[in-house]
Amino acid sequence: MREVSPEQRPGEPEASIRPQSLDDFVGQRQVCENLKVFISAASARGEALDHVLFHGPPGLGKTTLAQIMARELGVGFRATSGPVIQRAGDLAALLTNLEPRDVLFIDEIHRLNPAIEEVLYPAMEDFQLDLIIGEGPAARSVRIDLPPFTLVGATTRSGLLTTPLRERFGIPCRMNFYTPDELESIISRAARVLGFALTADGAAEVARRSRGTPRVAGRLLRRVRDFAAVAGKSPVSAPVADAALNRLEVDQIGLDAMDRRYLRCIAENYGGGPVGVETLAAALSESRDTLEEVVEPYLLQQGMIQRTPRGRMLSASGFKHIGLNPPKDLLV
Ligand code: ADP
Repeated sequence: MREVSPEQRPGEPEASIRPQSLDDFVGQRQVCENLKVFISAASARGEALDHVLFHGPPGLGKTTLAQIMARELGVGFRATSGPVIQRAGDLAALLTNLEPRDVLFIDEIHRLNPAIEEVLYPAMEDFQLDLIIGEGPAARSVRIDLPPFTLVGATTRSGLLTTPLRERFGIPCRMNFYTPDELESIISRAARVLGFALTADGAAEVARRSRGTPRVAGRLLRRVRDFAAVAGKSPVSAPVADAALNRLEVDQIGLDAMDRRYLRCIAENYGGGPVGVETLAAALSESRDTLEEVVEPYLLQQGMIQRTPRGRMLSASGFKHIGLNPPKDLLV
C-alpha cells in the first residue's frame, strides 16, 4: 500500500484530526465562503439547504465538509456510498428515515446504479419517492412523501456523472489541491491534536511532500511521528521529518516509487509519449482507474505530464525529475 495514496485505508484513525467547523477548515476558501452564505440563508428561512455536489480528487475534505455542513445547519448527518446502495429499497429506507432538513451524504455518487439514480431524481426535485411494489400484473406504483433534505454528493470524477443527476445539484463545488502553506497549518494543528511537538520547519517539510492532499499529510505526519519517537527525537524538526520521509521513499515533491515508475515508463518505453492510458495501465500492471484517479491528478497539477487527445506525454520537468534530459524538441 502506498503511503502517498490519497484514498482512505480501512481503520485509518482520521476522525481525531477532522476539523469541526467551517472556521477550523483550512483552505478551499471560495467553497467555504459560498457555503457559509448558503447555509445561513437556508437556516434563516428554515428550509433544507439546496443539494450540494463536491467534486475533486480523493482526500481533499469532501466528507469532512459534508459533516461540517450538517453541524452548522444543526441537522442530522447520514452517510452512504454509491456502490453500497444495491436496490431501490435500500435508498427508500435511507430517505424515509431522514428527519426534515437532514444531510444525506452519498460518496462516490458516480457509481450509483442507473436504476437507483432514476429513483433519486424525484426525491431530489420534489421530495417524493415513486416505488414499484410487487411484480408482473400485480405490480403497482406507490408515491411516498419525503421530508425535505439536503443531498450532498461526492465524486472524484464529475465527468462520469450523468447530466440529469449533475443538473439536480443546485450548488456544485470544485475541490482543489491545497497549497503548501495551507497544508502546513493543517499539519501544525493535527500535531497539536495528536499531542506531539513539531517545529514550523518540520511542518513545512511534511507539507511540501504531501501532494496537496490533507489525507496524505495526516498519514505522513503519523509515520514521521513514529520514526521520531523510535529515534527519540523531539521536537520533530525538518531534518527529522526529511529522514523519515526518505525512509518511506517519498521524494522532495511527494512522489513515491509508483509515480516514478509511471514517469520512467513513459520516458523509457514510449519515448516520452503520447501513450494511451490503457497501454500504460497494462505496462504498469495497474488499473486504468487507479492511474486516472490516484496517480495522474497530482502529476498533472505538478506539470510533470500532460493529457493530450493522443495520450499522456511527459513534460520537460517530468524528464528532469527522473534524472533524464528532455528531448530537444520538447519545449514544455
Ligand atoms: P474526501 O472525502 O475528499 O476523500 P475526507 O473529508 O475524508 O476527504 O478527508 C481526509 C482527511 O483529511 C481527514 O482526516 C480530514 O480530517 C483531513 N482533512 C481534509 N480536509 C481538511 C482541512 N481542510 N483541514 C484539516 N483537515 C482536513
